[in-house]
Amino acid sequence: MKKKVTVLGAGFSGLSAAASLARDGMEVHVLERHHQAGGRARQFDHEGFVFDMGPSWYWMPDVFEAYFARFGHQASDYYDLKRLDPSYQVFFADGDVIQVPASGEEQIELFERYEPGSGRALRKFLSDSQYKYETGMRDFVYKPSHSIMEFADLRILGAMFRLQMFSSLSREVRQLFTHPKLIQILEFPVLFLGAKPEKTPALYSMMNYADLVLGTWYPMGGMHKIVEAMTAVAEEQGVQFHLGQEVTGFEFSGRNMTRVQTTGETYATDAVVNAMDYHHLDQQLLPGQFREYTAAYWDKRVMAPSSLLYYIGVDKKLTGLTHHNLFFDADFGAHAAEIYDHPSWPREPLFYVCCPSVTDPSVAPEGQENLFILIPVAPGLEDTPELHDQYYDLVMERLEQRTGQDVRSHVIYKRSYAHRDFQKDYHAFKGNAYGLANTLFQTAFLKPRMKSRKVDNLWHAGQLTVPGPGVPPSLISGQVAAREVIRTLTPEFRHT
Ligand SMILES: Cc1cc2nc3c(=O)[nH]c(=O)nc-3n(C[C@H](O)[C@H](O)[C@H](O)COP(=O)(O)OP(=O)(O)OC[C@H]3O[C@@H](n4cnc5c(N)ncnc54)[C@H](O)[C@@H]3O)c2cc1C
Repeated sequence: MKKKVTVLGAGFSGLSAAASLARDGMEVHVLERHHQAGGRARQFDHEGFVFDMGPSWYWMPDVFEAYFARFGHQASDYYDLKRLDPSYQVFFADGDVIQVPASGEEQIELFERYEPGSGRALRKFLSDSQYKYETGMRDFVYKPSHSIMEFADLRILGAMFRLQMFSSLSREVRQLFTHPKLIQILEFPVLFLGAKPEKTPALYSMMNYADLVLGTWYPMGGMHKIVEAMTAVAEEQGVQFHLGQEVTGFEFSGRNMTRVQTTGETYATDAVVNAMDYHHLDQQLLPGQFREYTAAYWDKRVMAPSSLLYYIGVDKKLTGLTHHNLFFDADFGAHAAEIYDHPSWPREPLFYVCCPSVTDPSVAPEGQENLFILIPVAPGLEDTPELHDQYYDLVMERLEQRTGQDVRSHVIYKRSYAHRDFQKDYHAFKGNAYGLANTLFQTAFLKPRMKSRKVDNLWHAGQLTVPGPGVPPSLISGQVAAREVIRTLTPEFRHT
C-alpha cells in the first residue's frame, strides 16, 4: 500500500513537493483553492493580453534545469527560454538610462565608463559572489535547517568567513564601488526581494552573480509556462490535483493529522506538506495546541515588501522600454525607509515596469503592448481604490516623462492588485507578496521551521520557510520538504 501524502497549495513549492513525493513512491493529492495552479504565479488573459500575475524575472536557470533533470526532463522539453540582452535598463533622476548588458565584457566596459577602475572591482565582486552562490547552493539551500548542527561541519564553518554572513551587502558594495548609480544597480536585487541592503547579509551578493553572470531569461509564453511544465511533470509522476478546494481544517489522532477538510470534501492522509502561506495554516487553521508559533512571534517577523501592481494593455507600440525597466528616478533610501523603517505609503516610490511584449508577441495583440507595473510597498498597509488610482497617475506620469510619450490615453485595459488581493487570494499574512525578508536573523534555522514540533506528520514548504522567497527557493523548498517526508515515512528508502 502506498503512503498517502496531501500537499496543500499548488504554487511552486507545492508543485515541486508533490512531484518529488510521487517520484519516490507516495500517493499524492494536491488541494488548491484556485481553479488554476501556480499560486502567486498564476496567469490571466483579457482580449489577447496575457498577464503573468506575479514573478517576471527568470533567474538561476540552473535550479530549474536541476529540477527537471530529476524527472528525466529539461526545461526545453516544455518551453523556449530566451536570454534577455540587455538584461534590464535603469532610469535615473538626471535623465540618464543605463542598459545592463548580458555580456561580462560589456558589463566591465559599462562600469569603467561610470567609475574608472571599477571593472577590476566588479571582477573581484563577482568572483566572491560566485563563490557564495556555489557554496550556498551546494552546502546551504538544500538543507532542511532543522537545527544549527546541520551547519556544524568543518567545511561549512571554514566557509563562513568568506560567505560574509555577518557583514552587510551594503558595506561590501560600498567598499568596492563609489558611483551611486553602480551601487544602486548592485543593491537592487535585494531591495526588491527582501530587505534593505544594510540589513541584508553580504552572503546575498550571490544574487548579483545570478543577475550579472547567470543572466536574466524569459520563457516564451510567460512565466506561467514554468507552472504548466511543473504541473505536467507532477501529473506524469501520478500526482492527483484537486483544484477549487479551499482547505478549512483537519482531523487529528493524537499528534497526527488523519484527515484534511476542504469546503467540499475530506481527504484521509498519512502526512501533510503545507505549501500554503505558513502563517495562514499556523494561526488560522490549526487548533491552538498544534500551533508552532504565537501571534506575537509572527508579528515580529520582518516581512519582505508587499506590492501595488498594475496589469495594463496599451493599444499601440511603446518606445524606450526594454523587457525589464527599473525606475530609480527617486530617492532609493527614502523609499526603502518607507518600506522597512516606518511602514507607510511612499511619497516618491521606485517602481518596476515589465513589458514582456517587447520579447514575446504572444502576450499582446499585434501592434499593442502588455505592461506589468510593480511598486514595492510595506506589508500591512491599508490599501484603497483611491490609493490605487493615485499611484497609477504618479507612475504613469513618470513613465511618460522618462520615455517621452503619451501612454495613458492609449490604455485599453487596466487592473490593479495589492494587499487586500494578496489576502483574499492567498490568505497572505499582512498582504505580503514575497514572504519573509532575507535578514541575518531570518536565515536558515532562524526561519519558521520546516518540520512542525507539534504535529508529527506535518511539514511546511514555500516562501515563508527555508530557504526563502523567490521562485527558485520555493521550488527548492518543496523538494527539501518532500525529502524529509520520505525519510520519515519510509526510512529504508534511499532518497536522491
Ligand atoms: C508580484 C510578485 C512578483 C514576484 N517576482 C518574482 C520574480 O520576478 N522572480 C522570482 O523568482 N520570484 C518572484 N516573486 C516571488 C515568487 O513568486 C514567490 O516566492 C513564489 O511564487 C512563492 O511560491 P509558494 O509556493 O511559496 O507560494 P504561493 O505561490 O503563494 O502558493 C501557495 C498556494 O496555496 C494556495 N492556498 C492558500 N490558502 C489556501 C487554502 N486555504 N486552501 C487551498 N489552497 C490555499 C494559494 O492559492 C496558492 O496557490 C514574486 C512574487 C510576487 C507576488
